[in-house]
Amino acid sequence: MNNYKSPIVNPSAIACCVCGFEGDRAYFRLPDSAREFLPTQYICQNCVEKPVQNYFTRNSERVVGNTDKLPTFGIELEVVRRSPEVLSLEGVGWIPTEDPSIPNGVEMKSPVYSSLQDAEPILEYISEHIVGDVQSGTHIHVGIDRRRLFDLADYWVKIWSPLVLHMLINRKETESIWGRTFNWFAQLGCIGRNRYAAFSCNTHTQCTVEYRLPVFRSAEQYSRIIDFARKATQILANEPLKDCADARNIAEKICALYSEIFEIIISDRIPNQEMLVGVTPRNRQVFVYPSADHEKWDIAHTDGITTIRFRVFYPSFHEACVRALDFVEHLEGKIHEEILARINLPFSSK
Ligand SMILES: [Zn+2]
Repeated sequence: MNNYKSPIVNPSAIACCVCGFEGDRAYFRLPDSAREFLPTQYICQNCVEKPVQNYFTRNSERVVGNTDKLPTFGIELEVVRRSPEVLSLEGVGWIPTEDPSIPNGVEMKSPVYSSLQDAEPILEYISEHIVGDVQSGTHIHVGIDRRRLFDLADYWVKIWSPLVLHMLINRKETESIWGRTFNWFAQLGCIGRNRYAAFSCNTHTQCTVEYRLPVFRSAEQYSRIIDFARKATQILANEPLKDCADARNIAEKICALYSEIFEIIISDRIPNQEMLVGVTPRNRQVFVYPSADHEKWDIAHTDGITTIRFRVFYPSFHEACVRALDFVEHLEGKIHEEILARINLPFSSK
């Protein structure tokens, strides 16, 4: 049962923005800004209280509207309360689905947009009337050719690690851009096909690159992230990709794009920075992150995760990234025992 304000009793000549029903039924009045993009300013009680769709429902409906030259995109929002405001988005093609992690809430899956312009009034509406109920993580899917996605998977670590390392070292900046930093549901591990990676190429049949890190803070902040995600995916889709040199070229282009869009400097200087490298042997997930707790390197093994700690003493960010990538590649594909027995760090430990 919805615990929102009571519905108003049917006034004459209003229709539901979702089902179009016009007649003897209770309606909720929506905020004035709903009129900018919804067919009406009301949603009927049936549409607010009806069961939502299955979690696995996909929304592949395309918005017929403007097209810019960037890849298509869609958004997933987890919302903790089934308010008339959030459910009214069904009137513009969003699909409410259940989500086991939020029993009283709803996961809203947007249709496929071909321009940011078409999504902007909705982002404003979310920012003004829904954002307080949005659970931390949101996901942005950006369209890409399926075969290209498979090619990219082989180079995924090389492509993303330089930016990921920058984001890790500059944690406060990362939080101000994305609304949070890496966590279990938006992991920095990007080896193989980890579906929880912050930048994920494991989207099965969806043919999208998934950006799992953004928290919705404001329409302006979120629009910028969408812009970055689409332009980064365009680079991923179109640049040559035959070998590691090509992958590094893509990585550099993505870093340049990031500093341009978010107006930050990706410095070539790196402080003497200790890094942790973690390896989960089963799914070969590798992650690298800075820490200040340990000296030199050592190996720890807890909860199925082997962590190798080491200090990075490289004069430049680029050099550190290149070395970290070599290291990750060195680990990739090795089984757990081999890592423990034969680990031979390509880094100086002092
Ligand atoms: Zn209705």
